[in-house]
Amino acid sequence: MKSRPQALLFGETVKRIHCLGVGGMGMAPLAIYMAESGYEVSGQDDALRDEVRDVLLRHGVKLEPLPERCDLVAISSAIKPDHSEMAAVTASKCRLVKRGELLAEVARGKKLVAICGSHGKTTTAAMLIDALRRLDFPADYVLGALFADESVAPAACTGSDWLVAEVDESDGTIDGFNPEISLIVNLDWDHTDHYATAEAMIGTFDSLVARTTGAVLTSKECELSEQLSSETNSSKERLTFGRGGDFAGQVDSKSEGIQKLKLGGRFELKAARVRAIGEFNARNALGALATAQIMGATLCEETLASFIGVRRRQSVLSDEGGIRIIEDYAHHPNEVGSLLLSLREALAEGGRLITVFQPHRFSRTAQFKHEFVTALSPADVVFLREVYSAGESPVEGGTSTDLLAACQSAAPELAVRLVNGNADELFALLDDTVRAGDTVAFVGAGSIDEAAHEWTRRGKLKRWDAFVESVKPQLSDDTLIKREEPLANKTTMRVGGAARIYAEPASRDELQLLVKAAQAEGVEVRFLGRGSNLIIADAGVDALVISLTKPQWSEFTVTGEGQVRVGAGLRLKNLCGLAAKAGLVGFEFLEGIPGNVGGALRMNAGAMGGWMFDIVEEVELMTLDGEIRTVPKADMHVAYRCCEELLDAIAIGAVLSPSSSADTESVGRQIDVYRKKRQESQPREPSAGCIFKNPEGGSAGQLIDEAGLKGERVGGAEVSLVHGNFVVNRDKASGSDVVNLVRKVRSSILNSKGIALEPEAQLWGQRWEDVL
Ligand SMILES: Cc1cc2nc3c(=O)[nH]c(=O)nc-3n(C[C@H](O)[C@H](O)[C@H](O)COP(=O)(O)OP(=O)(O)OC[C@H]3O[C@@H](n4cnc5c(N)ncnc54)[C@H](O)[C@@H]3O)c2cc1C
Repeated sequence: MKSRPQALLFGETVKRIHCLGVGGMGMAPLAIYMAESGYEVSGQDDALRDEVRDVLLRHGVKLEPLPERCDLVAISSAIKPDHSEMAAVTASKCRLVKRGELLAEVARGKKLVAICGSHGKTTTAAMLIDALRRLDFPADYVLGALFADESVAPAACTGSDWLVAEVDESDGTIDGFNPEISLIVNLDWDHTDHYATAEAMIGTFDSLVARTTGAVLTSKECELSEQLSSETNSSKERLTFGRGGDFAGQVDSKSEGIQKLKLGGRFELKAARVRAIGEFNARNALGALATAQIMGATLCEETLASFIGVRRRQSVLSDEGGIRIIEDYAHHPNEVGSLLLSLREALAEGGRLITVFQPHRFSRTAQFKHEFVTALSPADVVFLREVYSAGESPVEGGTSTDLLAACQSAAPELAVRLVNGNADELFALLDDTVRAGDTVAFVGAGSIDEAAHEWTRRGKLKRWDAFVESVKPQLSDDTLIKREEPLANKTTMRVGGAARIYAEPASRDELQLLVKAAQAEGVEVRFLGRGSNLIIADAGVDALVISLTKPQWSEFTVTGEGQVRVGAGLRLKNLCGLAAKAGLVGFEFLEGIPGNVGGALRMNAGAMGGWMFDIVEEVELMTLDGEIRTVPKADMHVAYRCCEELLDAIAIGAVLSPSSSADTESVGRQIDVYRKKRQESQPREPSAGCIFKNPEGGSAGQLIDEAGLKGERVGGAEVSLVHGNFVVNRDKASGSDVVNLVRKVRSSILNSKGIALEPEAQLWGQRWEDVL
């Protein structure tokens, strides 16, 4: 939300701010926060990554050199005094502040929730922010990373008094913060360039505790946190979280990336499900949930069950072809060790853990060389990259060659190899080493993520290209197969990106060939009807998308028994028209539903009191193994907007039964009645039909209308003024505009009415559970 900028920053009127090193994960979210708060913000960076560039531009941060008229320059700690741009800054006579000083200034006058400490503050902050967002608890925030879901901004200005921010201790700017709540996730001696001893670091946190006005939360399991001064003033609460803390919790069960925590102590909840694995993430979640409760949010068991995750924090870049690729920011030996242990625990049977590690800073590598040897030992194979200097000059004993020597002498059984050549050398080694069942972890806080993404991208491209090349020679000229086919114009919502592979098979044999080959190659398959209940994410869909649009799939035959055999590709509009022409009654309710038979079967489409499966006798489908089966209606599991048998199979045809017969004119008259009714109650703009299923005994549209959400907008997407359950593409909306608007509507209804609306429209390229 854009609001008017504060009149004064550092005692001066500020309109224009320039950020040096704007691409860093400390600076980029703060630049976005300042832009969202109404300042004119620009910035530059020597090594701006594409995803950061996109998010900055999307939130109004201009990328340009220091402008002529500028009131304030903020610099990242990575910018050294001899940086080429510093001369221009000095010459401009602008006030120069560190990134942390600007955040501290902004936090003045706010109820600051400072998430700080040594390991896991970004994930903990992200969990807290995500929890508050889902609960619609208004709070500004500045994260120190990007969310894994790019549609959620790394900073937001809501106008609330609360500000949740990660506060970094590495450069001393922590001394400028006066939090309402301090959540100190844990303490471990790090940043040895700034803190000569562990005591010096504890002293800094002692002072933060003393300046905190409300509650201080520390980890019950962290020894150094125990050493913090217990000095309190009367208004301050000192609390702990962890197994036996004031906010107590422990892992009760784990399954498929979700762990269930049993909660006790001051928690108002008995249990919480958290989508993040590992003991350390359980502790991060306890800290985040405890803080949310202290802030006054009403938690529920599912608040973190769909936690969207943070980029570079256990991010799964790919899980295809039996190979799981993870990237993680871990750079302190304790972080690296916990990460590798948790990945080892989750390995597939017979799988190996291959780790590509890029140490971060020479000083840290020299200081903790031996600890790194232990931390790396859960891996089966380690490829060691050269140290990422983060602006430091080499320190004796702190290079990757030194770390390799330490590994060889202390853990000779560990297969470690130094790969400090270019990325291609690393990729060739990985291609040779990695096999199905392995997990490959790219670990480090420097530039290792670039290698992780590039190797993943190349692997996917290779697999998709190989797939197309292998099936193409076996397909007839009538079958269409393409790479990177845009999907927006194949849907009624008209948003989103491309299908990595797109095919229109011309026959059953060729459909069979495609699904079998996809199954064999581990390529995901999706079936596209007329795209009238679909929202496509902006990044597109990493899958083979199959559409039955060739005329061969549009059969309409009246059988000797008076039934109708239809192809899955037949448009519902044509089904109605052809049935009317044949004098068959019972299909009129389908008039105006802009899908085809396949989509209507999968969705059990319904209108005007009729349902698709009211008229179905049997469905012919093809499984993902390529087996063709005819399933009678009695054997199918059908519910409101769902047919279970078609969740993982493609409908290719069906036999339908009319209820009776009549003359064409009278069937046509009924169709006209329904058409008129629909025209009066549904919007004309592009949409994906009803976004939410109706809750039991109610109407989603009515709830949205009563909540005053008609006309609500995000970007070019708008809640229809005609029908509250339709989101329309009013003005060149993007996929993320639509998704963000759906989220906004859902959380508003959850908070005002306590009803969790379930999406009806399908989302491709993202998962509703991740983005809502
Ligand atoms: C203006 C408007 C009005 C609408 N009114 C109604 C309404 O009154 N009632 C209603 O129920 N819906 C309505 N819808 C929603 C939509 O039209 C229906 O859900 C329709 O049945 C979807 O068909 P489709 O071919 O477009 O499927 P798509 O949107 O392409 O796909 C929807 C789902 O079906 C799957 N699918 C598609 N084809 C197959 C296949 N052959 N085999 C297996 N799975 C398949 C897809 O994978 C996807 O999961 C409306 C939509 C719009 C835009």
